[in-house]
Amino acid sequence: MGRTFSEKKLVIASHNQGKLREIRDLIGPLGIEVVSAGELGLPEPEETGSTYIANAELKARASAEGSGLPALADDSGLSVTALDGDPGIYSARWAGPEKDFALAMQKVEDGLQKQAASGNTDRSAAFVCALTICWPDGHTESVEGRIHGDLVWPPRGANGFGYDPMFVPAGQDMTFGESDAGWKHSISHRAVAFEKLLKRVGLDQAANGAGDNAG
Ligand code: IMP
Repeated sequence: MGRTFSEKKLVIASHNQGKLREIRDLIGPLGIEVVSAGELGLPEPEETGSTYIANAELKARASAEGSGLPALADDSGLSVTALDGDPGIYSARWAGPEKDFALAMQKVEDGLQKQAASGNTDRSAAFVCALTICWPDGHTESVEGRIHGDLVWPPRGANGFGYDPMFVPAGQDMTFGESDAGWKHSISHRAVAFEKLLKRVGLDQAANGAGDNAG
């Protein structure tokens, strides 16, 4: 258990509309007012960390310092075993300025083919999500969630985003691109990380209570 979150307002240190929507949905039922870094005119810091958690921390810290409010940030990506964890923290950057994930997935597949040619046929990977809450006094609480799976080629399905069409979660047949979004969000790296974070800062009881009231 880390520091208890007892504030009534939280900044989401993200300018990504998809992430904002997902995080608002998760935090809404807790009775905490949510405002985004964009709405407050806070700048986006450069992601200079060498781990997911380091990047989540530097984004959360920048928003907490800039706003005087506690801030929540997320950093995520796809870590491919045979590629020594690449694209990892560079997952968004592998898609280039055009955010071309067909190209990014092709780069991953090219890497896997190269490994296969030298005898390494491991196609396992994990989606990873780091979440950090930073308070205005600089205290941070960080957690990481993962979901393991295997990469298929060619990519399948038009749901989801990023590397979803080539990722099949362990024990499943469909890619995240083929499966239902609600199902993906209930088992994803982000869901795992959120559950850990709520426990860490003492909000899991509030989340359960909110669920009881709603149901
Ligand atoms: P970030 O904004 O630096 O955290 O970038 C995360 C990147 O990782 C995204 O642009 C995606 O390419 C990839 N990624 C993270 N989570 C997922 C997911 O759930 N599905 C597919 N790709 C993901």
